[in-house]
This record gives sequence, C-alpha cells and structure tokens, in this order.
Amino acid sequence: MNLKKGFLFLVFLFCNFMLAQNTKLCGTDFVMQKYRNTPHFKFAQSQIIKNSNYNLSQNAKIIPLVFHIIHDGDSIGEEENISVDQINDAVSILNEDYNILNEDLNNVVQSFENIIGDVNVEFRLARLDPSGNCTNGINRVFSPLGNQANDCVKEVISWDDTKYVNIWVVEDIDNDIGAAAYTYLPGSLWGDQVEGIIINHEYVGSIGTSNNTPYKRHTLSHEFGHYFNLEHTWGWGTNSELDNCSYDDGVDDTPNTIGSYSTCNLSQESCGNLDNIQNFMDYSSCTCMFTSGQVIRMQNCLNSSISFRNNLWSNNNLWDTGTHDNYNNSNCLPSVDFFISEADRVCIASPINFINTTVGIDDNTSFSWSFIGDETQFSSDKNPEIIFSDPGEYQVTLSVVNDMGESSLTKTYNVYNSETNLNESFQNTQFPNNPNLSLSWSIEAPTTETTWTRSPISSTAETGSVRIRSRYFDCYQKHYLYTPNLDLSNFGLGIGEPLKLYFDLAYGKRNNQTNDLLEISYSKDCGKTWQVRASWDTEELITINSGNVGNNFTPDSGDWVEKTVNIQSAAEESDVIIKFEFSGDRGTYLYIDNVRLEGEWINIQEINIVEENKIIKQFDLLGRENTNSKFYINIYNNGRVQKYYEAY
Ligand SMILES: [Zn+2]
Repeated sequence: MNLKKGFLFLVFLFCNFMLAQNTKLCGTDFVMQKYRNTPHFKFAQSQIIKNSNYNLSQNAKIIPLVFHIIHDGDSIGEEENISVDQINDAVSILNEDYNILNEDLNNVVQSFENIIGDVNVEFRLARLDPSGNCTNGINRVFSPLGNQANDCVKEVISWDDTKYVNIWVVEDIDNDIGAAAYTYLPGSLWGDQVEGIIINHEYVGSIGTSNNTPYKRHTLSHEFGHYFNLEHTWGWGTNSELDNCSYDDGVDDTPNTIGSYSTCNLSQESCGNLDNIQNFMDYSSCTCMFTSGQVIRMQNCLNSSISFRNNLWSNNNLWDTGTHDNYNNSNCLPSVDFFISEADRVCIASPINFINTTVGIDDNTSFSWSFIGDETQFSSDKNPEIIFSDPGEYQVTLSVVNDMGESSLTKTYNVYNSETNLNESFQNTQFPNNPNLSLSWSIEAPTTETTWTRSPISSTAETGSVRIRSRYFDCYQKHYLYTPNLDLSNFGLGIGEPLKLYFDLAYGKRNNQTNDLLEISYSKDCGKTWQVRASWDTEELITINSGNVGNNFTPDSGDWVEKTVNIQSAAEESDVIIKFEFSGDRGTYLYIDNVRLEGEWINIQEINIVEENKIIKQFDLLGRENTNSKFYINIYNNGRVQKYYEAY
C-alpha cells in the first residue's frame, strides 16, 4: 500500500466510522444476547424448523397490527406523536416489501434476480380491540417511557401478542441498545413477556418524521424479518467482523457474508462469494429484497405454534381483530378520548390545549365540549384551547357525534390557585392532597409500584416527612413528586440572595446493589419544559456515617442533612412548578422534609403603589387648584414635585 492509498483508506475508515455514529440500526442482536443460548430458545427454534409445512400456493396470510404511540404530550403529527398518514405509509411499504411490489426491487443485481422471494403476507391495522370495541389500530398513550425506551415501554400498553403484532413507536431507544428498532425472534420470550417491535418514530415509513432513505423506508420490513424468525445475513455477531464468515443465517440461498454497513457496494465479496448486500436483513444503504430461502424460513415460522405466530393469521383471529376480508367496520360509534397537550396539568390563567384523539371521525362528525366548574365553558372545536381563570374542580366532557351515533367521555381536572411561597413540612395526613386545594402536591408514578408516601416515622419539622423506596422497583421507572403551582413574582430581582430551594434529606444505602437517583428540576411554563437544577446518585445521597442500612432505614435526628438548590432563574416567574424525580433499584427509604424557598422577597404590591405616580394636588403659581393656567405644579403621592408648562 503506498502512502496516498493508505491515507485514502484511513479517510474511508473514518467516514464509515462517522456513518456508524450517525445511523441507528437494528438492536435485535443486542437484546437477543441473553436468550440466544437458552435451552428454551434452542428447543423452540428446532420445533419451528421441524414443523415446517409451507405450501407456496397458499393465500396471502393477513397479520393484524396495532401501533402504540408513546408520546410526551406533542400534538398529533408532531415529533413522536406521528400522524395517521405516516403509519398508513409504513403499512403500505410493508405490504409492498412483503409482496414483491416495491419499486426498488428493479435495482436487484443479476446474480440474485432469480432468487427474489415473495413472502406473501399482508399487514392490516386492527379494527377491533381486545375487548371487541372499534379501533383504528392506533393507540396514543402519554408516558415518559418513550424516551430512552426499552422493554419497559411494554408496561405502558400492550395488546394480546397471540392476536396482534404490537408495534411501539417511541421518541428514541435506550442508548445501551443504540438502535432504530428491535424485536425478538420467536421462541425467545415466554411467560408474561410481551412480544412486538419497538421502533424510533424517525424510522416509521417514509414521510412525516421519517424520510425516504432506503434504510428508514425498510426498517419495519427488516424487523418483521426477525419477528418471522430471520437472522441477519451474516448470522449472529457484530456486523462487518471477519469472523462472521464462519457463522450462518440458517438460510441456504443467502451467501455467507460479514454484512455491510450504510454503504452500497454491489460488488462486495467478503467471504469468497458475491454478497447479497441488497437483502433486507443486511445493513447496507440499498436493501430491497428477501430471498426464496428466507421466505421459506419465515413461512415455517408463520405455520408454527411457537410464540403463537400461526394464530395471528388464523380465520378466527382475523374476525376477532376486525381484519377479516368480510368484516364491516362502517357501523362503529366514535371511540372518544382526549388529553392535555405538553403536560397533563392544568395551570390557572394559562391557555390549555385539549387534544382530541377520538377514533371514528368522518366529514360529518361534530364535537361538543363542556368544561363544568366554577366558570363553565363550552366549545365545538375539534381541539379547543381553554383558559381556566377560576380555581376548583372541573368536569371536562367531550361528546362526539358521527353517522352512527354519539359517544362521550368525561375526565376530572383540578385547577389550583398559585401560591406565592412554599413551606411544606408534610404534617397534613391527606398528602399529597390538601384541604386547601392550592397547597396540594401531586404525584405521577407507575401504578404498579409503591411511590412517594407521607410517613410519621421521622421528621425535622414537627411530625411528618415524605419517603420513597426503590427496593421493589422495576425498569427504573420515574416517580415524580410535584410541588403546588407557584407564583414567584415576589422573589428576587437579583440584587440580594439568589432564590433557593431548601429541604432536609435523610438517606442510607440498602446494600451494594443499590442504584438510586434523585433529581430536582423546575418548570416556568406549567410543566411543558423542565430545567434540571440538581442531581444526586446513590453515593451522593448518603447522609449517614455508618455503612449499609438494610431494608427499613429509619433516620435519627442526626441522619438528616439540609440540601439547597439554586433556582434564581425561576424568580419573578408567575407559573412555576418544582419537581422531585426519583428512580432506582434495590434501595431503602429516602426521606424528604421541610421543603421551602428563601430568597430576596420584594413586596410587589408596595412597589406598585409607589410607582403609580398618582397626582394628589395640582395648583398654579398663585396657589389656585384646578385652574386653566398653562403653568402649574403637580404634587405626587410619593412626594415628587413636578413643574409643567404647556406651550401653544
Ligand atoms: Zn436486525
């Protein structure tokens, strides 16, 4: 190799490295690692192959789909809350790819033209949900678990995986998996583990938040390949590693290869033969085909009872899921639902967007909203924006009428007055509620886990404190504790002490497996956006001098430590919420008490009086009041004296 070629080679390597950094690929290899060598998986795989009875002349198999869109409050069509159009686009691309109707199939090189495989599978969005109600096959669920998503997202929502293929659309996938999407091969999961495909919203279809690059366009086709038991073309192991030549993908007509990565070198020969880099199960930038051998492997899977793949397309199941050719869904009442945009929280005097997610809307559909409370309001908008200026409890009802009739849904929201200060010592036994509504705290946490609770066991301020324990937590789900809404207009103009949050904390480590995290953040816009101001991990949280404390930590008075968090940039803001965010695993109790704010307090009402500049007396040079004189003197309430001369 001469010097110049060597340099170019390095540039080439560097470019590939950059692509590897920017292009997210499939995480199935990674998540399969812990199942690959289990007896359960090996036995299941042998059964799929043994029971193969694929008949080429069969009708297309119909596969019912449900998309669960896990969003964090964005409106429909924005960011991860992708549009119906984008989902329909993804389903039609799947149907092209699985029925050799995709246009890019024309690009297949001559050597592989003869082994292009037609999978003969049709994907349809479910029209009936597991309870037999009408659906459009798309669920939109508000949850923070779509961010850095992993299998925990399945706890948010899942439908019977023996009847539907669950597809969870998320904001992004856990950095540890580092993928655009992933799934499990049949026979990997068992018990109550739910099957399906988890996919980053930017890789769903070719429109909306995705785009029409070949890789993104075909990501779902690749994942369904795995779902129907295909491996990558290089078998198992890391893509592009030379020892992949000794692994096989279990398919006869796919040449042995080490795979390619984000490139499209149609003459690549990595293991002595021309590689089929255009295969959907490669990582190249020009995938467009399955082979006949892969089709047989997928069909064997679809005919097998392993992981209930043969139930998905059974006649009974097509009726149950509303995907049968003869099922008529034109007589569906609307299925009503709505949520509040951005954060599921109502702040007083702030515009609140109600997002309508009703299924079964056609051109003749009408909407009628009522907001019943101290100040009753109505709207006939599809997605109304409402301002609540009176605090109290509101019943929000949406009624939807389409050609088939009317359905409605009511949800209750509380609107609180904002407090101008915070001083909470958790003595109220109804915590997080408070008889004085505007002093109520709120909690958002998984319903399956014991979360923040008030405890009388230990305190730095009279009788109570709040505590939380991660011992039985699963999935590092977040447990949020929110202060009441705060109007901090009176705090600090930045001349005196900065505005700070103070609280007392007591914590000990349960054992060496404990892994806890406490974060403090605040929002200045009613929970739409949050600024993290402090964060403590297990070691940083410890307030005691002794070693590990076991299961039921109860602090002595000497175990409490005062913490401070600077939140000066929330000063002068009228719509502030402070959030305690706890997540962890295998820990004991963390206690918090005596939460308060201190900073430079300015009494705005007094300032207003001083600045009002009210004239208390006006007279001319001769001392006459209320004259028409063009030269006169004003005396103001703050003692200021001003002379005026009005010129003609
Ligand atoms: Zn893959």
